[in-house]
Amino acid sequence: MEIIFASGNTHKVKEINEILRGVSDLTVISMKDIGCTEDIPETTGTIRGNAIQKATYLWYNYRVDCFSEDTGLEIDALDGAPGVDTAHYSGSRHADANIALVLNNLHEKSSRTARFRTVIALILDNKLHVFEGICTGEIALEKSQGTEGFGYDPIFRPDGYDKTFAELGADVKNVISHRARAVQQLLDFLKAV
Ligand code: IMP
Repeated sequence: MEIIFASGNTHKVKEINEILRGVSDLTVISMKDIGCTEDIPETTGTIRGNAIQKATYLWYNYRVDCFSEDTGLEIDALDGAPGVDTAHYSGSRHADANIALVLNNLHEKSSRTARFRTVIALILDNKLHVFEGICTGEIALEKSQGTEGFGYDPIFRPDGYDKTFAELGADVKNVISHRARAVQQLLDFLKAV
């Protein structure tokens, strides 16, 4: 089965294809491959709302079965921030700037617990289905030397590990991550229909 992924984020396309490799015959096609190169609006103010907005956009404009995903990092000591603003927390999409602002805002906070939340919105046969994956952990005191992954991976240590996602690498991240858990739910659903 082939399905269109409503995202232009090459990191996400790569990760989802790695998660699927060997466990599913689902082929994920980037929206660019059907000629959609637009910056899809993400204006609802929530992670769930933005995921639905992206899938709905592709459905209305291209009439294809598709899924989207939106991910946020929620830090308890920052009242859930960056949350829906995860991609551009510092005002730019630059990962180093976003990481620096998180570390700065957590300076002197006693709690560093956090979670990544991924919401997947699937539109299949004109019906919407929503799945969510969460990975809990904490924010490291400083940026780690790890170079794998993307975004906030150099500062996020998942529970049960003393290394960040950037140090643990794809073999671990793609099994326990927020995105892996949400994709697993998507697969379970698709297997059942
Ligand atoms: P979105 O495209 O609105 O979901 O936001 C994507 C941004 O969230 C990325 O640019 C990253 O900064 C961050 N992000 C999303 N997923 C991850 C992840 O798995 N690890 C680290 N950062 C992530």
